Amino acid sequence: MESDPHSLHPCLSCGACCASFRVDFSVVERSDHGGKVPDGLTVDVTDSFCRMRGTDHSPPRCAALTGTVGQRAACAIYEWRPSPCREFAAGSDACERARMRRGMASYPR
Ligand code: SF4
Ligand code: SF4
Repeated sequence: MESDPHSLHPCLSCGACCASFRVDFSVVERSDHGGKVPDGLTVDVTDSFCRMRGTDHSPPRCAALTGTVGQRAACAIYEWRPSPCREFAAGSDACERARMRRGMASYPR
């Protein structure tokens, strides 16, 4: 299916990945270590790794996620989000799994 260039990006009506997976990354990405990710939105895992707060809750939901999954969603720290979020590919197998778990259709292509 060809996507309509005028429609909103599919992620803006999804957010499933931000409410599905643990998001762990190096503390050097965190604001208190000179990085960009606001430290108040993270929890320590080890001395060198931390996690986005809420991503290990049951059910998981990142503390930076705003809106309602499957309807309208956004990352409140988009410009400062950690590397796993930057590397997560829309339309990937993990994306499809997250959408499926939320009863959503496949990523539109
Ligand atoms: S699960 Fe996929 S479509 Fe949904 S927000 Fe994440 S990357 Fe975007
Ligand atoms: S930091 Fe932003 S992109 Fe990353 S999981 Fe949280 S809400 Fe999603």
